[in-house]
Amino acid sequence: MSKGQQVRKTIQHISNFKKSASSADVYQNVVNHPWAQPLVKALNLPVPLPLKRQQQASEEFLRGKALFGSASTGNKEASPVANAILTTLSHGSAKLFYLKENDSQQDLLSASKTHPLRILTDASQKLSALIYDATSVANPEELTAVYDFYHNNIRRLGDHSRIVVVGLTPSSCKEAAQASAMYALEGFIRSTAKEIGGKAATANLIQLETGAEHLLESPLRYLLSQRAAFITGQAVTLSKVSGSNEKINWRQPLMDKTALVTGASRGIGKAIAETLARDGAKVILLDIEPCKEDLESLARRLGGHAVIADVSDKKGLNKLIKDVQKGSETIDILVNNAGITRDKTLARMDIKRWQSVLDINLSAVQRITEALVDKKVLKVNGRVICISSINGIAGCFGQTNYSTSKAGVIGYVEAMDKVLARRKITINAIAPGFIETQMTQAIPFLSREIGRRINSLSQGGQPEDVAEAVAMFANPASAGLRANTLRVCGQNLVGA
Ligand code: NAD
Repeated sequence: MSKGQQVRKTIQHISNFKKSASSADVYQNVVNHPWAQPLVKALNLPVPLPLKRQQQASEEFLRGKALFGSASTGNKEASPVANAILTTLSHGSAKLFYLKENDSQQDLLSASKTHPLRILTDASQKLSALIYDATSVANPEELTAVYDFYHNNIRRLGDHSRIVVVGLTPSSCKEAAQASAMYALEGFIRSTAKEIGGKAATANLIQLETGAEHLLESPLRYLLSQRAAFITGQAVTLSKVSGSNEKINWRQPLMDKTALVTGASRGIGKAIAETLARDGAKVILLDIEPCKEDLESLARRLGGHAVIADVSDKKGLNKLIKDVQKGSETIDILVNNAGITRDKTLARMDIKRWQSVLDINLSAVQRITEALVDKKVLKVNGRVICISSINGIAGCFGQTNYSTSKAGVIGYVEAMDKVLARRKITINAIAPGFIETQMTQAIPFLSREIGRRINSLSQGGQPEDVAEAVAMFANPASAGLRANTLRVCGQNLVGA
């Protein structure tokens, strides 16, 4: 086939894809199609590898072969952090390996007696994960151990694989040298994520407060799983909290919990409702009158309860809460998801556009959260998850109203953490990047193509990616995850 014919065939395919799925990633579909392969090769086009996502609740969180390393070589016993990591890993179905480089690696030798940890001998093995305990790195010189581990093994990573580094929060380090080394790991993970994104692989960091290792399982499972397919180049902070060793049924961790999701009739809110219901929660779904039909049909399908209300209606707040309580007297999980955009440059933005976005995206989040807490509808040990945006971190042309509101959400989460901690309620924010929904479908074609491509995974996220992050924060085992802002953006170039 001549190049001209190839180009015409590909254009024909592009228009077919556009007709069949207006919100789909046309470029990704086309370049991964067998028809387009000769042209893709001839023009050396980048081919974003489609992400693998969790299909069923029961899927294992880690498969294949995983390599574990620790900076605490020379110690007789494996550190409590290494033990916590290995205990979590032993709950997955991956075969676990370590590298026996010299006899001083007594900690891993001793750990291999209690955990199914074997020595990796075959250098050609493809690995599904490289996990490293860097908590004992004491200063920048000792970062060489992290370099060695990843430098020697990164080529072994297969497609869709995972890198997770576990470090300490810089604030919990006594010495400045250690705090600096722990902070340095953020730069390490962010660059590594950019280098492995072409394999649809991810790299993330968990920063532990000293003594929080017993809370590692929830974020570690999540970041190693397909549920976190669109999370990369991020640092998650784990705080030390006491008394949260609840026994978890990992297949249905939200059994006996009730969740209220605002803006639940479509897009990200709908995916959140479906995912929380999959994980066992009873769901109460809230949206505005024009969405009634969709909302009620979703509530019926998920065995939940529908509430028609406008989150920004101050006078209707009491009625909103009463209507929620018709579904359930109390709730365990609140997801503040409802949001709107009303874009215009600041000079052209009328007060209505400014006010409506601030009201719905920010003031309503504050009002509803506090009313539910004050009236004790949100239970002790509850979870609040607020949907922000990367535009709240980086700003966006034509979105002063939206970015202001979403930055305010992040500030609200940080400030409310201390207030809600008294009732053992956690609050976290999620900042999605480009997610394929009606909201992003409204963006003009070219800007949309650029928007979904400018991240380390070269593709847009799906509503499920945000929903899985919500489910992780909602998990009873996530008591140590407090005041995080987790970007679900494939490491979008915007703002980081
Ligand atoms: P969407 O427009 O598809 O859905 C928003 C939902 O909120 C709709 O069901 C809508 O009816 C509801 N809603 C709007 N105003 C409401 C009100 N006053 N009271 C009750 N419900 C109301 O948008 P989406 O893409 O699913 O976005 C969901 C959230 O994620 C929003 O907060 C949005 O700002 C945020 N977000 C989305 C993206 C993205 O790429 N799609 C990126 C970053 C952040």
